[in-house]
Amino acid sequence: MSKVSLFETVAQQYNKAADRIKLDPEIRKILAKPMNELVVNFPVKMDDGHIQIFTGYRVQHNNVMGPFKGGLRYHPMVNIDEVRALAAWMTWKVAVTGIPYGGAKGGIQLDPKKYSINELERITRRFTYALGDSIGPDYDIPAPDVNTNPQIMAWILDTYLSTLPPQERLRSIHVVTGKPVESGGSIGRNKATGQGIVFCIEKWAKDNCFDLSKASYAVQGFGNVGSWSARLLKPHGLKMVAVEDVSGAIVNPEGIDPDALQAYLTEKKTILGFPGSKTVDHATFFSTPADFFIPAALENQITAETAPLLKVQVVFEGANGPTDTEGDAVLQARKIELIPDILCNSGGVIVSYFEWLQNKRSESWDLEEVDSKLKKRICNAYDRVKETRTELDVDWRTAAYVVALRRLEIVYKERGIFP
Ligand code: NAD
Repeated sequence: MSKVSLFETVAQQYNKAADRIKLDPEIRKILAKPMNELVVNFPVKMDDGHIQIFTGYRVQHNNVMGPFKGGLRYHPMVNIDEVRALAAWMTWKVAVTGIPYGGAKGGIQLDPKKYSINELERITRRFTYALGDSIGPDYDIPAPDVNTNPQIMAWILDTYLSTLPPQERLRSIHVVTGKPVESGGSIGRNKATGQGIVFCIEKWAKDNCFDLSKASYAVQGFGNVGSWSARLLKPHGLKMVAVEDVSGAIVNPEGIDPDALQAYLTEKKTILGFPGSKTVDHATFFSTPADFFIPAALENQITAETAPLLKVQVVFEGANGPTDTEGDAVLQARKIELIPDILCNSGGVIVSYFEWLQNKRSESWDLEEVDSKLKKRICNAYDRVKETRTELDVDWRTAAYVVALRRLEIVYKERGIFP
């Protein structure tokens, strides 16, 4: 585990980039802190009739570029420091990709495995009610994150709409993104983060004349982001040689089929015991030789302890904040390239933006349109970060921050500070 708070990690990354471009000191003060922080304690009736109090969070980091946007996480480790950090990363992410949003994040501190489906529905509805007007279709728009999914977004949508006058309901379905397609979601949203990571891997391979069909990789986390990345890499011929999730880690140098692993996980609720694989410990998983490592689980995984173990050429950050500052330094010293979270996993928020646009315009785009627009946007962002990296001779993460900070700096300078 990292010794510093997650928001401190964000601050270290931010300060490094701000120093490099001598960001305006007044704007620097503004962006260093979140705009709004909401903590709600709310009661929910459990299946056996007793009442339990839950704590939920929503941090709105910055909205100078547009409405607040960011996921909701259900996890026992959710706390104000983590949500603050994740909200700030959203501000940088949307600014890197040029999406007209601001950054936010939220969640509930709970272990969803301990609750029935009916309890999760009541918890979600009561949380939405507690958030009240702090969210809204043109103000702050939640989306899925760790342990939340399209079903949970549908409950949020239904609860939010039920609190509005009838004539306002149908023009407010863009209050959440990542909804089921039937309830106004976008085709292609579920796989979007994984798809964006695959577009980044393709870009990197092309730039480096690297043959993907002979490549191998390890993935940490086999949920939405990890499993979709793996399944979308399969047609390129890449071999998945190691996988770790909350239940443990498996390796197979001959390759693990992502679709078969997904089917196995759905049935057995664990990746352990997958035919042909060997169960290994955390250190062995990190030491597995491969071309790429895709962290797609939680934050603070690549640290001073684990970064020296990696035997890969490139890290593609699927998770938010998987590498702490010390881990970053070790990777740089070892010349392991790293495509940072705020660029690499931005496919999710990009397609959330497309869903929001479709809802506002009463449109429904097909998969080809969604994927081609996603590719264009993430590849443009990739190129811009790459150019900035060359211009300033900095690492990928700092270059991505610089792209974001330059955009935000221009907007603040144009608009000034009220009053
Ligand atoms: P998810 O809940 O679908 O999957 C999380 C995965 O991480 C699961 O496979 C779980 O078993 C694994 N995991 C949990 N604890 C672990 C541990 N201690 N060691 C190893 N594996 C562990 O969540 P997700 O939506 O795939 O999100 C994963 C990461 O990607 C998060 O950092 C999230 O913020 C980020 N992200 C998600 C999206 C999105 O669209 N869902 C977009 C951008 C970034």
